[in-house]
Amino acid sequence: MFDVMRIPAFKDNYIWLLRKGASAVVVDPGDADPVLEVLDSEKLVLDSILITHHHKDHQGGVARLLEFFPAHVFGPAQESITGRTHALQGGERISLSSLGATMQVIAVPGHTLGHLAYFGNGCLFCGDTLFAGGCGRIFEGSPAQMHDSLMRLAALPDDTLIYCAHEYTEANLRFALAVESGNRSLASRANEVAVVRAKGIATVPSSLAVEKATNPFLRCQVPEVRMAARGRGSSSDDDVAVFAAIREWKNTF
Ligand code: ZN
Ligand code: FE
Repeated sequence: MFDVMRIPAFKDNYIWLLRKGASAVVVDPGDADPVLEVLDSEKLVLDSILITHHHKDHQGGVARLLEFFPAHVFGPAQESITGRTHALQGGERISLSSLGATMQVIAVPGHTLGHLAYFGNGCLFCGDTLFAGGCGRIFEGSPAQMHDSLMRLAALPDDTLIYCAHEYTEANLRFALAVESGNRSLASRANEVAVVRAKGIATVPSSLAVEKATNPFLRCQVPEVRMAARGRGSSSDDDVAVFAAIREWKNTF
């Protein structure tokens, strides 16, 4: 199958490069320059571009990449995506033949309405939906949609590697501890991440097992998380109400 390389971009974005032999596929190239540098130094040919959603920090580099490579561009059908050649709704299986891989396309509306995640080879590329220790802001969808999307991702195998698009882990875990101070796995993860970040090392990918044990947005059924949501105005222990209350709290944390 393919190997995955991390290409840092802007302040805290990660562009993921999937490679096999001399072929490469990139996910969410918000900026072309760091991608072109890697393609050049590693002597790779860009075959395809996968876009999770329309925000500029995820697709801003597509036009320039297409000046150098006639790549396929996969992206959400219902969003405006530069150079898109393959419009996706979610539910498809796409074949990346240059990598000898297929990817399952998962609709994950919430952050944006057309947001997609791509799952293959045990790797999940989930853009701004599920983050290490947190989740994306709800810009276009509803809390119910976002919660549903996260639950769809949480149903993947526990050893799935979570390749999200931002290095937000440390701040996310600070918030997670405010929600669930009694979670010992969370406390030790937060300590580990603080040490790793102080050295400037990336914390992504994480694994789904770790997220299920420590990410409050995947833990709305846990009594301590429900209690925290009650403290933030939730009047019900319904998972979506709990999710909405803690997502709202995170916006101002
Ligand atoms: Zn975004
Ligand atoms: Fe983003």
